[in-house]
Amino acid sequence: MTQQIKVGGVVIGGGAPVSIQSMTNTKTQDAASTIAQIKSLAAAGCQIVRLAVPDMEAAEAIEKIREESPIPIVADIHFDHRLAVAAAERGADKIRINPGNVGGAENVKKVVEACRARHIPIRIGVNGGSLEKPLLQKYGGATAEAMLESALGHARLLEQEDFHDICISLKASDVPTTVRAYRLAARSTDYPLHIGVTEAGGGDAALIKSAAGLGALLIDGIGDTMRVSLTGDPLREISAAREILRAAGLRHEGVEIISCPTCGRTEIDLEKIAAGVTEALRGCKRDIRVAVMGCVVNGPGEAKSADYGIAGGRGCGVLFRRGETVGKVSEADMISALVKMIEEDA
Ligand code: SF4
Repeated sequence: MTQQIKVGGVVIGGGAPVSIQSMTNTKTQDAASTIAQIKSLAAAGCQIVRLAVPDMEAAEAIEKIREESPIPIVADIHFDHRLAVAAAERGADKIRINPGNVGGAENVKKVVEACRARHIPIRIGVNGGSLEKPLLQKYGGATAEAMLESALGHARLLEQEDFHDICISLKASDVPTTVRAYRLAARSTDYPLHIGVTEAGGGDAALIKSAAGLGALLIDGIGDTMRVSLTGDPLREISAAREILRAAGLRHEGVEIISCPTCGRTEIDLEKIAAGVTEALRGCKRDIRVAVMGCVVNGPGEAKSADYGIAGGRGCGVLFRRGETVGKVSEADMISALVKMIEEDA
């Protein structure tokens, strides 16, 4: 089991539930826009949010952002230890920085002291794309072994200052390297692991890369906090993270919609109805499975494991509850009738 760290009020590692992170894409200096985005991310289920801190103006904005953020914030810093110290002083709940890149032991010490004094953990974030040249030469590229050696090297610089409030990430943009790096890390260190596939891209391919990589790790019990990286609106990252956690059997809150793939027996506009049911039940917190099936021949049987469901007939739908038929409605009323039945049982 990994060690535990605390990021604001969120516990990471040591068997705590896997927390969901995202990153704002506003300018951090623009505190109002950043706060608005953090609030919508938090409302969607984000538990920790990271902000880019490229300059002192951004570091200073953390004070105002921290006051209004409903969730802990992580300052993402490259190279400049002064920004890390400033971010810690202004209330960041975690600092993401690689101590090997801050210009020497004296600067590492300053970052460590600023964090230690406030019980702020540091995440070492190794990316396959920005590995140290000697490691690239030693391993012949950005391999999983090279990434792990890089992370442990950064960690050693913190350990030399007797600082152990550490979390590690090892992100490559390809899934097999990412998975291998985290598997190696899980065997080599007990620091909590922040898992993610970096630069996954956008669209379906990005979702699938994240689901394959994070799913493989989570099912193996690897990963203490996660970020799904998607190009575009970070809100999509939260729903994707929740679904990956659910698929890995680690999250039980909220509705799981199962729908059949459709076939020649399909009697209703299943895609539209499944989308409507998903939307109507988005805010429902009950741990239930809802089936939306295309026909009455196989639908109720195929969805026996569901708590509630609907199966299409010609111009109508059959409602069922735990495999038992409970009524018949017109196609136009299918969504509302299904939702009503679920709400009545709540
Ligand atoms: Fe086809 Fe019916 Fe199965 Fe859907 S539930 S795939 S419509 S047989």
